Amino acid sequence: MLHDIDWHARASAVALPNRPFIDGRYVDSLSGETFACVYPGDGRLLTDVASCNERDVDRAVQSARAAFESGVWSRMNPADRRRILLRFAELILQNREELALLETLNVGKPIANAYNGDVVSAANCIAWYAEAIDKVYGEVAATAHDMTTLVLREPLGVVAAVVPWNYPMSMAAWKLGPALATGNSVILKPAEQSPFTALKFGELAIEAGMPAGVLNVVPGLGHIAGKALGLHMDVDCIGFTGSTEVGKYFMQYSGSSNIKRIGLELGGKSPQIVLADCDDLDAAAAGIAAGIFANTGQVCNAGSRLIVDEAVRDSLLDRIAAQALNFAPGDPLDTSTRMGSMVSQEQMERVLGYIDAGQRDGAKALIGGGRVRNETGGFYVAPTIFDGVRNDMTIAREEIFGPVLSVISVRGLDEAMTVANDTVYGLAGAVWTGSLRNAHRAAKAMRAGVVWVNCFDRGSLAVPFGGFKQSGFGRDKSLHAMDKYTDLKAVWFAH
Ligand code: NAP
Ligand code: MG
Repeated sequence: MLHDIDWHARASAVALPNRPFIDGRYVDSLSGETFACVYPGDGRLLTDVASCNERDVDRAVQSARAAFESGVWSRMNPADRRRILLRFAELILQNREELALLETLNVGKPIANAYNGDVVSAANCIAWYAEAIDKVYGEVAATAHDMTTLVLREPLGVVAAVVPWNYPMSMAAWKLGPALATGNSVILKPAEQSPFTALKFGELAIEAGMPAGVLNVVPGLGHIAGKALGLHMDVDCIGFTGSTEVGKYFMQYSGSSNIKRIGLELGGKSPQIVLADCDDLDAAAAGIAAGIFANTGQVCNAGSRLIVDEAVRDSLLDRIAAQALNFAPGDPLDTSTRMGSMVSQEQMERVLGYIDAGQRDGAKALIGGGRVRNETGGFYVAPTIFDGVRNDMTIAREEIFGPVLSVISVRGLDEAMTVANDTVYGLAGAVWTGSLRNAHRAAKAMRAGVVWVNCFDRGSLAVPFGGFKQSGFGRDKSLHAMDKYTDLKAVWFAH
């Protein structure tokens, strides 16, 4: 159990996977290069990890292609594929301690979150798609009486999943679940900050009975390993989660190689709208604080812009500031910590740069506004609330990916919606209101893939997740995600 474990002791003893996992086993990289993996909780070097280059990626693609063409997975009886994926999910849960610890060491998130959240949600996701395998049907189209026409879904072949570091296991699982369930072979490229759990997944898949080559894991740098996957002529599809900037590269890679399919889950600048008729400011304050401070704000759908009606502004801000006290940064390996470190020194500096920009532009920091826990050597930023923000300021326009809330005051629903939609992003948004009519009006007006009414960050595997506008296209989660990893085939039988 979480609280019975001496996590610091476990941390100094745990084995850190650091070699690529290709064709069913750990191998030495062909590149011979490495990159450093640092524990952001105290800044110490954990290990050097193999940095895969084009040749390593090519080796993984060949293995994945061979597995796909052989049919060991792609043509396996669906019931058997389901059994193996369910076993994979079970093994993720059985290795909960180790996976949670590896995740916290990589990214500095609180061990309680990794243990109770990330590991469990990754396992649930794999299991959900395993269960779906033999419950999704093809179609029979209404064609002429003397024809029978089937509409079938077939796997694409070799899928590369390129994922970020904020929820490494979940983001990987959102791709692996539907891609593997539909019979593809997969190459997983974790973010350089978070290779451990991805590599461990490769090992657990084999233990679950997945044939070698069906899941390969290539740790490496984005502009080398990620780019090599994007440009590879024998990769059929990219499932990407990350920044809008890199998402644009993948569109270019696809266009300059083989028109590989792409699904893009990108950044956001999600609005939290609080209307004058909000009838539960305490609930709103709790949702808004968690929506920007959970996971240190390193969340694609973080509610980073608070768009609040002047009528309730002061009482709401007092409540949010009180809620923020729950998110004082602490030791990630302490089970009571609710906010850990930023993922890296680089990310901390990026966030501090945005805090400077907010100050320069004339916004006023109500709480926070700087680095804390310097003495640990780790990379911690205090929960920060900026009041007096205009929607044209840098901190209202750019994705900060840190615990920084920008407060923009408005009057009435119409102005709130205009400000909310004045962004290049469209991932998610929320409205807090006691009026059914305003709730519906706001939900319709919001240009975003996910809208929450009187709640925030609710999710379920049964519900699609993804963005409008420059937050990307294609959906993770739900049966819709399976569309991304399959092609439709129409088969006409003349009688
Ligand atoms: P990122 O820099 O875009 O990186 C994402 C992945 O792409 C990493 O594996 C990265 O590898 C790789 N990459 C980087 N540069 C590349 C290049 N030139 N060519 C090919 N691949 C490249 O994003 P991040 O910093 O890891 O994560 C934060 C971003 O992810 C935020 O913008 C956030 O909004 C977004 N995000 C979106 C969602 C969603 O579902 N919409 C969920 C989570 C996060 P390296 O790490 O080695 O650079
Ligand atoms: Mg990056």
